Amino acid sequence: MRTKTGIKQLLYIAGCSFAIVLLTAGCLPDNEMQPEQTVQVSTAGGNSAASEQLAVQPAEPVQKEAGSIDSGDAAENENTASEADNETIVQPQDDNPYGIDPDKPMIALTFDDGPSKYTWDIVNTLQARGARATFFLIGSQVATHEAAIDYTLANHNEIASHSFGHKNLTKLSDVEVINQIRPVDTALLERHEYVPALCRVPYGSRDERVLGILKEEGKPVIGWSVDPRDWEVKDKDKIVNHILDRVQDGDIVLMHDIYEPTAKAVAELVPALQERGYQLVTVSELFRFRGVTPQPGEYYRSVPPAEEAEKI
Ligand SMILES: [Zn+2]
Repeated sequence: MRTKTGIKQLLYIAGCSFAIVLLTAGCLPDNEMQPEQTVQVSTAGGNSAASEQLAVQPAEPVQKEAGSIDSGDAAENENTASEADNETIVQPQDDNPYGIDPDKPMIALTFDDGPSKYTWDIVNTLQARGARATFFLIGSQVATHEAAIDYTLANHNEIASHSFGHKNLTKLSDVEVINQIRPVDTALLERHEYVPALCRVPYGSRDERVLGILKEEGKPVIGWSVDPRDWEVKDKDKIVNHILDRVQDGDIVLMHDIYEPTAKAVAELVPALQERGYQLVTVSELFRFRGVTPQPGEYYRSVPPAEEAEKI
């Protein structure tokens, strides 16, 4: 009896010690990482105090990876346990809070002409799958869509400028072009403490003069390499199929967050693209992970791997 009790006590003490070791080890990565607190919303110059103040569910893959431990053994165990990822997982870092692997395919979904009531659905879809996108909003919409913009930023998406009034900039005077750019920055700064790093000209319409003004204004100009013409077809399946048939690593995909079929298409596209191995990143992240610094006044359609980004 004595011996049995002694063994039981020993086992109990050993069990407690093991539990304490596990608890201590388990705390380390959580405290070190906390990706939702270290996130910069716009990696190319933007910032958003507003987004950091809001409680946000961390993106799904981040949660997974934040739970794994830095040591090689623990990471191996994590990999074995993971059903979805059978390859090496890139650990989240302060400058890479989502654990994006620069060597794996990535694309940037972009949404123009919002915000609108459909922006919320699209952000929810992205958030649920640990994905992010870039929203090129119209400046005149900023004052009336504060909550949607806050929600977009709080879920770590990028906000960019699509001009103040969606006019063809090539038809405006120099001063008028400037007046389509600066008020967007001012409105976002005043209301959201955020400065958009990137710009997309309405209709993709630009010439040397307009690009010269945007260079002076410090704005890289973002085009697209995949265009399902969602504004025209307004058909979920056509939008999904167009993109899935054409998409390649480094693509920038153009859509509009003002149409219901687009929002429904995104709900199918996000998981479908992820299943094909694409990481869904913001445009600024696409540049950063490809080692490309976007230059003001330059027009970019895509950021393919291991090449200079495509320019006009
Ligand atoms: Zn537009």
